[in-house]
Amino acid sequence: MHEQQRISHNSQHIAIIGTGLIGASFAAALRANGYCGYISGCARQQETVQRAKELGYIDIGSTQAAEAVKGADLVLLAVPMLAIRATLEEIAPHLAPGCVVTDAGSVKGQVLQDAQDVLGDLVNVVPGHPLAGKEHSGVDAADETLYSGQLVILTPHKTTATAAIAEVTALWQLCGARVEVLEAAHHDRVLAATSHLPHVLAFSIVDMLSQHQARDEVFRFSAGGFRDFTRIASGDPVMWRDICLSNREPVGEILTDLLEHLQHVQQLIEAGDAQALESIFSNAKTTRDSLIVKYQRDLTAQQAARRKADSVDDQVKK
Ligand code: NAD
Repeated sequence: MHEQQRISHNSQHIAIIGTGLIGASFAAALRANGYCGYISGCARQQETVQRAKELGYIDIGSTQAAEAVKGADLVLLAVPMLAIRATLEEIAPHLAPGCVVTDAGSVKGQVLQDAQDVLGDLVNVVPGHPLAGKEHSGVDAADETLYSGQLVILTPHKTTATAAIAEVTALWQLCGARVEVLEAAHHDRVLAATSHLPHVLAFSIVDMLSQHQARDEVFRFSAGGFRDFTRIASGDPVMWRDICLSNREPVGEILTDLLEHLQHVQQLIEAGDAQALESIFSNAKTTRDSLIVKYQRDLTAQQAARRKADSVDDQVKK
């Protein structure tokens, strides 16, 4: 437990709809960092509900979302993007007055729209996106440290209550995450570039090469670079299908930009333009190298801040 001990929150009953990787990790992180309230959970399969209970993530579970949200102060929707609207429709009549609704979906404009349509207003709706995950999904992949030091982006509407934003912020901070607030459409454009585009690319390259006439050699001779580059093609296909379909316009636009850029690079290669090609590769290398240096610097600063907070905690206890 770190400095999260001192973070105060109001939710005594949290309902997690979708106790898979993201939902169960949220519960696990809350528990690991001293959350003493009640957690109810919901998954489609009874075995998943049972497993989440056995692992101590939830106190009670159901395969019915309406059942799980009864009496909850806060609901986290951690279901696939295209299941969010139907889940909201199912739970809406059963939400306690003032219940805060948040989610972990990877596209935010769609969630705001769904919530506005189904709930009628966004006063207690705080869409969120943890920038943390793994290639493997499901309750057994859950991890109490998944959010530790990671960024969670919240995209509330201008009509969302400050208290609801503060509550969702406090719970993510209790999980060890850092929280930032962004406008939903901006989030979706940025994530289209940094996350959705690379995934589309990795899935497409592996799919294309799986149909290559020398397929066996292509994969047998693949070196570390190919494996690093295509690691994210091991992500859940349904989740990534949902993400692309929920963020069609920004993903379409950035794909158009990439296709133009690729065509340009193809022309340079065909024309044998060494200087222009080297200039593109050098710019990419410098950009990536500086990003990595910045990432490592930020990580070291966070670790130092955490060590300092831990030592203050220890002194207070003595
Ligand atoms: P997961 O497959 O591990 O868990 C999904 C959960 O949703 C399961 O409990 C499942 O029973 C339930 N579910 C599936 N389909 C449903 C349906 N049609 N109706 C109701 N419940 C359904 O998935 P995950 O990786 O935990 O992803 C959950 C959400 O988090 C997604 O919206 C995803 O976009 C988002 N997210 C995932 C990651 C990641 O890296 N995995 C990162 C950030 C955000």
